Amino acid sequence: MAITLKRQINDEEKQIILERHGRKCFATGHEIPESESIHFDHIHAFALGGESELHNIAPMCEHHNKAKGTLPLGDFRMKLRLEDFSRLGDRLTLRHLLQHLKDRKDIDSFGDAVAVSEKDGRVTVQSHSHASSHSLCTCDRTGWKYFDAALPASVLNSDDDESHQFGLQPRFLISDKVFELYRHFQIYPVLQPSIGRIDNNRMLLFDGQHKAAALLWNGVRSFECKIYIEPDVRLLNQTNIAAHDRDERHAGALDSPSCPSGDVCFFRLTPPTLL
Ligand SMILES: [Zn+2]
Repeated sequence: MAITLKRQINDEEKQIILERHGRKCFATGHEIPESESIHFDHIHAFALGGESELHNIAPMCEHHNKAKGTLPLGDFRMKLRLEDFSRLGDRLTLRHLLQHLKDRKDIDSFGDAVAVSEKDGRVTVQSHSHASSHSLCTCDRTGWKYFDAALPASVLNSDDDESHQFGLQPRFLISDKVFELYRHFQIYPVLQPSIGRIDNNRMLLFDGQHKAAALLWNGVRSFECKIYIEPDVRLLNQTNIAAHDRDERHAGALDSPSCPSGDVCFFRLTPPTLL
């Protein structure tokens, strides 16, 4: 059943919406020919607080109106954008999405080089456009140093192996999963950070790329991260791949392995030790 407007909008209101959006279909921004009728629908669903007020209604063409099914218009537009992105290839990672968003001028940069220094129990991160300081923590179980931080996309990248000796990112983005999480994060907060490491002055995420991708599509530009400074990369690689294998076996899980037995994914079960 298609989502219908709570109330009919009158001609005057339609005119106001068209003046605001132009005779453009909200789905992709294409012109709606004069020969075609214009449909009007909600950008955000009622369930998410979308109201039948004029700012939440946009014009769309008949073709896209039929194609969107039960999705609110905003989500349908995002689905089309995701399909657009996924046509770039079938082995896409967060790195490709960041490049895609940069090409679209949605972000200025990503993966900038960082200088990371430790002093007096603090970690300082600095790039040409970012500077921050964080508590230095040590994992009880591994002894590895790490810090928790909200970091901008400009200093983050995916831990792929194409340009590095050792990539820890074990899989590719699944478009449906990103879309599912995109909708999820419209309602629910992010409870777990994305996890990464420092390698050759780069901050590389190897866990939580679907989550980061969904947040990027939601317009988020700052990401809660847990960053290891000098982890044992081989052990981390084995751990991460084992955790993802487990994740694959638990269909329905969202982005991160839940580690029900806790014998592999130790970095999830160890609470941060703040100095
Ligand atoms: Zn259209």
